[in-house]
Amino acid sequence: MSFSLSCYRCGERYEDTARVRCACGEPLWVDARPTAFSWDDCRNRDGMWRYEALLPIDRPEGVARAAGGTPLVRSPGLDDVAGGRVFVKDEGENPTGAYKDRGSAVAVPHTIATGDDVVGTVSYGNMAISTAAHATSLDRECLVFVPEGTSSVRLELIAQYEPTIAQVSGEYGALYGDALDLSERLPIDVLVSDAPTRISGYKTALFEICDSLAPETPDVIALPASSGGFASGVWLGIRDLESAGLIDESPRLCLVQTAAADPLTRAFEDGATDPTPMSSDETGDTIAHSIGNPDPPSGARALAAVRDTDGAVVSVTDDEIRTAQRRFAVDGGFCVEPASAATLAGVSRLAERGELSADESVVLVPTGTGFKELGTGGRDVATETVHRADLRDRLESLLAP
Ligand SMILES: *Cc1c(COP(=O)(O)O)cnc(C)c1O
Ligand SMILES: [Zn+2]
Repeated sequence: MSFSLSCYRCGERYEDTARVRCACGEPLWVDARPTAFSWDDCRNRDGMWRYEALLPIDRPEGVARAAGGTPLVRSPGLDDVAGGRVFVKDEGENPTGAYKDRGSAVAVPHTIATGDDVVGTVSYGNMAISTAAHATSLDRECLVFVPEGTSSVRLELIAQYEPTIAQVSGEYGALYGDALDLSERLPIDVLVSDAPTRISGYKTALFEICDSLAPETPDVIALPASSGGFASGVWLGIRDLESAGLIDESPRLCLVQTAAADPLTRAFEDGATDPTPMSSDETGDTIAHSIGNPDPPSGARALAAVRDTDGAVVSVTDDEIRTAQRRFAVDGGFCVEPASAATLAGVSRLAERGELSADESVVLVPTGTGFKELGTGGRDVATETVHRADLRDRLESLLAP
């Protein structure tokens, strides 16, 4: 299937589908603006391939077929904390436990079809795990660049798919630019966080949300944001559905950042179109390591998405994230990673400010499962030991009215 790329900001179009950025500097995407599309056109296929008609490639083989198709669950236990009628879009149910699989499912097969021998990625987190899984399922080599000193737990999560892992010293943040350069010069395609084909895959999360709730449209959708890639994909999905006449009023996009690195929140509050990169002495440590990008490559586009949908960007602290993570588990039954828990903390902030009302529907998108991070929370678990001969007595006293 052929497609072209375009720039959301200046409108320039490109036929070279391996290109990532416009001459104006902004990231490109596949903005097809479908007009003839309805939910009835969705054939009942695997996961996100239900929306194959709106994707730039045909359904591939491999683990890509397991991507997407995650449940959207009404979760009333979380209403009080959130301050709205909560639905949870559990992206942790993707094959590698994060929404990244939607992007890899399109980007990796597209790269292979366009002839590059090796697929690469710059990540030590969910993007690395996902890209490695999708590459190996198509029998392709994958090269993962992680920062020097990456923990053995993280390395093990990535290494299970047997990519070549290179620990890189020097400034890791600058690797985004290096990756684009290497992709042009060598027979390797380094799929960065906002590669246009990834963004196309991400929009299927929005399709699934709107498809499940149709003919209603949710009032608010809350996502954690780092590079701004996922937010861009969700915005692209909204634009597709608007152009197909399937939604009238756009959901308000609420992006949530960690207070430790929040260039998007700062730009949003300042009314700026482009985020200002944060220097290392302006940023701090956070438990939400999936969202700590001080210089988000799709930041300006994410801000445009928020303004276009009348949404908001908010920052939350690690303490708020820890509380939200507990509420997700205890009141919702969901095991989510800290970056994902930030969505709940973020919307309760909106509710406090009067930007979300109790009768409005709010979709929280836990982007990644918490099961990869167990044992890192430093939580003390108190239990009692009872001999089996004493169990009945002990239970009697426990269950006594
Ligand atoms: C990658 C990731 C994010 C951030 O997404 P961006 O596209 O970089 O904004 C949020 N949550 C999880 C779990 C992630 O893996
Ligand atoms: Zn441009």
